[in-house]
Amino acid sequence: MARKLGHKHSMNLPHHGTLQDVRARIETAARAAGREASEITLIAVSKTFGAEDILPVLQAGQTGFGENRVQEAAGKWPALRSSATRLELHLIGSLQSNKAADAVRLFDAIHTIDRPRIAQAVAAEMAKQARQAQLFIQVNTGDEKQKAGVSVGSADNFIAECRNKHRLQISGLMCIPPVNEMPDRHFELLAQIARRNDLANLSMGMSGDFETAIKFGATHVRVGSAIFGTREGQPR
Ligand SMILES: *Cc1c(COP(=O)(O)O)cnc(C)c1O
Repeated sequence: MARKLGHKHSMNLPHHGTLQDVRARIETAARAAGREASEITLIAVSKTFGAEDILPVLQAGQTGFGENRVQEAAGKWPALRSSATRLELHLIGSLQSNKAADAVRLFDAIHTIDRPRIAQAVAAEMAKQARQAQLFIQVNTGDEKQKAGVSVGSADNFIAECRNKHRLQISGLMCIPPVNEMPDRHFELLAQIARRNDLANLSMGMSGDFETAIKFGATHVRVGSAIFGTREGQPR
């Protein structure tokens, strides 16, 4: 756990503050960009955090939450879901096709469609379960070898394939800019690819750069540590 034991009893209090801070920063960034904060969905990224950390954020009225592992989410969210009046769960980590059934069952949105096999598996599962998830295609805007996402050069084709071959309704695009670069160019590139493919939604921006992402048109920001605190033992 990310917090020290000595702070156990007060540890839930700052969450309200930090969630409120993040919301206020979204508001300010939206206004500066001539946008409405209501166009921007805040996804509170709760990966690695347990129910005791998530509950206060739920109770403060936050409805969107993000997880990067299907199995971890399956372990903690079914119980949490029952204590939420409104909840939207977002899968923001890579999906393996053998987890597609669980992912479709559990998540309201999947941000990481990035190869034909996954598009195929998610399409088949949504048909089988008669369940729609909001879908984003992940684009590897930095064309990094180790990173998930469709390459920039094949993004247009993959979007068309998802639509035409797999009959998927694609809602938008997602990216994670390279860690050691200014994110601006990557956000701009993602927005460009979305525009020319008629996609309305952009999932981009994390704790360190969500205000910049909003400037470039983000509709979904994925904010973890600025809300929940730092994650222990997990490199970004
Ligand atoms: C962990 C994670 C985030 C949140 O990162 P923070 O820097 O803690 O805000 C956002 N997007 C993805 C894909 C992640 O894995």
